[in-house]
Amino acid sequence: MKRRNFIKRASLTGLGLAVAPSIISCETEAKTDKKAIAIATPVLPIVVATWNFKNATKAAWKVLEKGGASIDAIEAGCRVEEADLKNTTVGNGGSPDRDGNVTLDACIMNKDGGYGAVVCMENIAHPISVARKVMEETPHVLLAGKGAEQFAVEQGFKRENLLTEASKKAWLKWKEKSEYKPIINIENHDTIGMLAIDKNGDISGGCTTSGMAYKMAGRVGDSAIIGSGLFIDNTIGGATATGMGEEVLKTVGSYLIVELMRQGRTPQEACEEGVKRIVESNPNYQNFQVGYVALNKQGEYGCYCVHGGFGISKYQEGKQTYIKSNAYTKKA
Ligand code: ASP
Repeated sequence: MKRRNFIKRASLTGLGLAVAPSIISCETEAKTDKKAIAIATPVLPIVVATWNFKNATKAAWKVLEKGGASIDAIEAGCRVEEADLKNTTVGNGGSPDRDGNVTLDACIMNKDGGYGAVVCMENIAHPISVARKVMEETPHVLLAGKGAEQFAVEQGFKRENLLTEASKKAWLKWKEKSEYKPIINIENHDTIGMLAIDKNGDISGGCTTSGMAYKMAGRVGDSAIIGSGLFIDNTIGGATATGMGEEVLKTVGSYLIVELMRQGRTPQEACEEGVKRIVESNPNYQNFQVGYVALNKQGEYGCYCVHGGFGISKYQEGKQTYIKSNAYTKKA
């Protein structure tokens, strides 16, 4: 812990002020309440994730608190959502494409700049783990479709049907009209993007999704694409995204945010600029959501989104916190 921050923390603790509320806002922490951020920033390890994925951040925290590596925390955390059949936007139980096929995208990045990804992979429930195998066991970084599935089976993953009865029923209902219309914050936006710093101060990240519900066959979003759904630079920090993948891809959002942090922006400022790049050149922004979360090497974090309703989960100092994100449209 930096001396400056330790002194602040010690004196505030003396006043009984060190306990942070369990629901806070990114902007409040990052901008208004400088004392709060001074307390939170130097304390490692830390894990943050898109949305209120409490079980996922808890699983990641269990790895981190024991001194585990951030890459292991990321894989453990993301696997929780992939296995959750009730989560219809990640892994097993994910919504299918318009032809009824569940196709998954995921990527992972480690402290050494390693990257592994799978896109449009079917029948394998844990794409984050396959992505890690791509990173660690192949000379490549991204495998697609049948090739990704074949590789996964060769690595010992079992083939299974990922289309649950509930997802199938919802898809058949959608097919009656076949109207493609993402619903902000409700239907299509529960991709998990996760960033973690371990006790050694090393950062890793992961992002895993079934993509937009009822997408065109073959559609790949931002989540598994380096620099878009996720970017990690162990000298600077990381960023990850959720929401309308096409908009994140067009602005290379996560890379942009990490580069802005490199230039001196706080994670909060960088996320806000990332969202601005999307909305200011896109009159259609009322119709889609994008949310970002960023974490720098000091453990400072930020989040921002196009429309309200987005938030992030954080685990730090043994405590789970949900942080509401501020939104561009509230200012516009
Ligand atoms: N970003 C994901 C995609 O475009 C979907 C989401 O996060 O809602 O595939």
